[in-house]
Amino acid sequence: MKKICAVSHFLDITCRVKSRIVKDALHTVLTKIRARSPKDFERIRNRVRKIIPLSQKCRRQGDLGEWKSDGGKYDYASTGVILLSSDPLYLIATVAHELGHACTREPDIAKRDIDSEWASEMCADYYAYKWGFGRNIARFRPNRVASHHGPMPGHYHLTSDGMPDGVWARLRISRAFIPHLVRTETLDGQVIETAVQIEKKKRLKNKEMEKKFPIRLVRRRDRRS
Ligand SMILES: [Zn+2]
Repeated sequence: MKKICAVSHFLDITCRVKSRIVKDALHTVLTKIRARSPKDFERIRNRVRKIIPLSQKCRRQGDLGEWKSDGGKYDYASTGVILLSSDPLYLIATVAHELGHACTREPDIAKRDIDSEWASEMCADYYAYKWGFGRNIARFRPNRVASHHGPMPGHYHLTSDGMPDGVWARLRISRAFIPHLVRTETLDGQVIETAVQIEKKKRLKNKEMEKKFPIRLVRRRDRRS
């Protein structure tokens, strides 16, 4: 019987997971990331201290993987640890998603901040898609907890956050997992304004402001004496 080493290294990342299928999945995903996006790969290599097995308790709860930043949930700079289950189900999707968490930067979150939990999940999936694992994630989707992972590309999301009373914003999630305003509407779906109308109104308002408060270009004096 082939002996499986307890500690392996995948392109400089320490792995303490013994399972052969997990190691194969890690090799597949990391090799593809390195080929497709060397910058993302460098970021992963700088952030992921090690990959360790997921606890039995988490497995029983149905979790397949987890990213734990040393700086806490909202830290996007510190190093951290990836925990992986050896469950072969959706393994490639899980590995790509957890590495996506490790690669996430603060500006990625800012672009997708419709809900703090969703923003983080959408960023992880965005990276998985970017590296070519979109189909793996899509196959995994029906078995995921939608309330944790949030909306997917092509989905619509209705929110009243930051809107006046009785007004809802309908957002469409792009392929890059970025929400775009489609229209504002009432709770029973009556359109108030389309995104085009809102944009036009903003431009007109900006023009009015420019007329009221023109920006004067002040030429700096030549200081040569
Ligand atoms: Zn996640």
